[in-house]
Amino acid sequence: MTWDVSISSRAMGVAPSPTLAVDAKAKALKAAGEDVCGFGAGEPDFDTPHFIKEACAKALAEGKTKYCPAPGLPELRAAVAHKYRTFNNVPVQDSQVVVSAGGKFSCYLGICAVVGDGDEVIIPAPYWVSYPEMVKLAGGVPVIVKATDATDFKITPAQLKAAITPRTKLLILNSPSNPTGAVYEKAELEALVEVALQNHICILSDEIYEHLLYDGRQHYSPASFGPEAAEAVITVSGFSKSYSMTGWRLGTLVASPKIAPYVIRLQEQMTSNATTFAQYGALAALERADEARAALAPMLEAFDRRRLRLLAGLQAIPGLTCQRAQGAFYLFPNISSFGLGSTAFANRLLDEEKVAVVPGSGFGSDEYIRFSYAVADATIDKGLERFARFTASLR
Ligand SMILES: *Cc1c(COP(=O)(O)O)cnc(C)c1O
Repeated sequence: MTWDVSISSRAMGVAPSPTLAVDAKAKALKAAGEDVCGFGAGEPDFDTPHFIKEACAKALAEGKTKYCPAPGLPELRAAVAHKYRTFNNVPVQDSQVVVSAGGKFSCYLGICAVVGDGDEVIIPAPYWVSYPEMVKLAGGVPVIVKATDATDFKITPAQLKAAITPRTKLLILNSPSNPTGAVYEKAELEALVEVALQNHICILSDEIYEHLLYDGRQHYSPASFGPEAAEAVITVSGFSKSYSMTGWRLGTLVASPKIAPYVIRLQEQMTSNATTFAQYGALAALERADEARAALAPMLEAFDRRRLRLLAGLQAIPGLTCQRAQGAFYLFPNISSFGLGSTAFANRLLDEEKVAVVPGSGFGSDEYIRFSYAVADATIDKGLERFARFTASLR
C-alpha cells in the first residue's frame, strides 16, 4: 500500500503553464539533435546591458548581500517613483512603490490586495496565461471578456459594462499585450477607465511592455488619467522585458497610499525583499537612463525589423490572417481556417516541421497561435519557409 497525500483544491485548481509545456517539448527535441525553429520564447534574446550587470557585480563585491527593507531599496523606490512622475505622468511618492521578485509576483500581490473570496475579476481575452490562475489562487472568480482580431484584440466599453456585476472588484488591463502585441489608444483606455471608475472597480494595469512600442506608438498609463484613476489603478511593470533582465526577477508595483501598505504587508510575509544586490542593477538602469536607452536601442531596432519580417511572411500565407501588432514582441495570427484547434495545430507543426509556437488555447483564444519574434532573423526566415509548407499541407 502506498501512502496517499491529498492535494488541496486550491493547488489542484491551478492549470499548468501551456507556454512552458511547448517550450519543454521543443527543448527536448533540440537536445535530441533536431534543428528546431523556436518561436515560443517569452523573453528578449539579448544580454542585459553591461553597465547594469556591473552595478550589480559591484554591489555584490561590496557586500550588499543582506536583507533590505521589504518593499525595496529606498534609492530604487525613489528612482521608480521619479520614473512614474516624469515618464508615465503619474503622481507617485516613494512610499507607494513596491519592488518584488518579478513582475509576475507584483501582479499576484496586486490581485491579492484587493480581490477576496468570490470577488469577480474581469480579464480581457486573449489574456496572459497567469491572470486567471492568480485570480483563482486569491479566491476570486475570473470573468473572461473576449476580444478578437476583428477589434484588434481590444475590448470595448460596452463589453466591459455588460460584464460588470455587483461582485466585480477588478479589471485587468495589459497594453502592450502578451500574447497579441496590441496597444490600446489613449482614448480607448480612457473610455475603459471611465466605466471602471463609475462602477467603483479597481484596475490592475500590467505595463511590463511599456517601452517596447513600434510605428511611433506612445505609452499611456491609466493611472495618469486624473486623481480618481490614480486611486483606483494598480500599475505593474518591471525590468524583465524592457531591459532584458528576465532572470533577475525584479518587478515593480505602484498603488495608492490606501492599497500599497497592504501589498507591502503581503510581501513581508511571503518573500521579504527582492534580491538585494539585483536591485542595484535595476537602480543603475533607471538612474543612468540615457545609457540604458543607448544600450537598448539596437534591441528595439532588431525587434521592429523582425516584427515586419515575420508579419510580411505570415500575411503572405493563404488562409492565415495576422494583425499588425505594435507592441511587445509577439504576433498572434488567426489559424481557424485550417480546421485544427490551436493545441493540435502547434503539436503537429512541431512534430512535422520542427517549428515551435505557443497554442492560443492557453491565452483563452483557441483560434490563434503565438509567435515570439525575440529570435534571430535567420530563424524567422527558416521558420516561415517551414510554416508555409506546413499550412500548405493542411489545405
Ligand atoms: C513577462 C510578463 C510579466 C512579468 O514578467 P517577470 O519576468 O515576472 O517580470 C508580466 N506580465 C506579462 C504580460 C508578461 O508577459
